[in-house]
Amino acid sequence: MSRFQQIKRIAGWAIVGIFSLLIITFIVITGPAWWSKWVTYPKLEKERAALWAKYKSPEKLIEQTDYQGVLHAHSYWSHDSRGVIKEILPAAQQAELDFIFLSDHIRNKLDSFPRGYHGNYDGVIIEAGTESKNIMVTPMQEEVLDWNQDESQLIKDVVANGGMVTYVHSEEPHNWADPNYQTMEIYNIHTDLLDEESILPFMINMAVNKKDYRHWAYRELYDEQSAILAHWDSLNQTRQIVGIAAVDAHNNQSFRARHTDNGMVEWVGPNAKTLEITEPGWKEKLLLSEPDVTGWKFKWEVDTYFHSFNYVNTHVFSDTLSNTAIKDNIVAGHAYISFESLAEAQGFQFVAQDDRGEVNAIMGDSVAIDSATMLRAVSPLPVRFELFQDGMMIDQIGDQYTYQYQPVSAGNYRVVARIKLDRGWVSWIMTNPIYIY
Ligand SMILES: [Zn+2]
Repeated sequence: MSRFQQIKRIAGWAIVGIFSLLIITFIVITGPAWWSKWVTYPKLEKERAALWAKYKSPEKLIEQTDYQGVLHAHSYWSHDSRGVIKEILPAAQQAELDFIFLSDHIRNKLDSFPRGYHGNYDGVIIEAGTESKNIMVTPMQEEVLDWNQDESQLIKDVVANGGMVTYVHSEEPHNWADPNYQTMEIYNIHTDLLDEESILPFMINMAVNKKDYRHWAYRELYDEQSAILAHWDSLNQTRQIVGIAAVDAHNNQSFRARHTDNGMVEWVGPNAKTLEITEPGWKEKLLLSEPDVTGWKFKWEVDTYFHSFNYVNTHVFSDTLSNTAIKDNIVAGHAYISFESLAEAQGFQFVAQDDRGEVNAIMGDSVAIDSATMLRAVSPLPVRFELFQDGMMIDQIGDQYTYQYQPVSAGNYRVVARIKLDRGWVSWIMTNPIYIY
């Protein structure tokens, strides 16, 4: 064999080796995502359908209507979102939301309200709010807030003027002793994201599964927020803090492109940052197609509004659907949170009843031990009910539509309802406490 032939043979083997290595690496990295696509998610889809088939409309214990919505969402008013009503509203309607409480980032230290979206949009209530320094304020009126001033004073004024103040990103440090905060995020999608070791497997899984199983791919983020829940329970020992769910929706983990007014193309990357504004070239010819409702001609999106809005909801019991009524009932704690992509929670209720069976307290209410003869919960799907008293689980019972418990001592009682999925009991609903004194 000539020297040339030898080199050719070695080069040939080297190429085969490199290709094999690349294929193996591809399989190792994306394998779990394909396994999810072909095995895990179809199985989950079947299990979820079987669970939904067990739906039974529960007895109505609470007079008020259950309105479901999301808190902590961002729009174009925030520096890191381009979200406009044309895409927010259809997503809200698809997710069957009644309300959205926005939490846009501040633009200037003087923060004027209302701004951005505010009002009733085809039946969906949108309330303007601000997220700054891990505080969410919802002033509920025309107002200019001065973020230069002392925060505790700002919060105090917002509450005194009929607004709402929430601890957001509960994993972060806060002034937990400030009595003016009314509510706290007991679940936030972004908080849950932080404990992932690496975001890469999530993104690969999204890339493979976002077309058919984005809701399950999203759920890969989910972890029980035990520390936050324990903290919430401990705060409730001294004053009422209402638990709410936060979607922290931005619709901004994406690559998108659209034409600007002067015929250029703007490419937008993660966190709604402009990557480049360029003359249309071969890349644009290849990738851009018909515009969507907001003009995007190219989209590769992860966290669409719908999938954030459908991930976790806060359900609020209220006589009417108006901005003020929803706010008042959130502050009163007449609320529970639910992981809606698992199953629709409408119908779930948790109450206290007197000795004649009359409801005398719902979630968020206080009632004397002498009048609270029975605690009752009803669910539209069979669940494992867990009852917590002052943060300790004191009772649980599996696969039931209804639950009752005779309280014998004062305390804060709240319910966690879990559905059976993937051979485990997955947390689906968490109520606010009924305060028995
Ligand atoms: Zn946010």
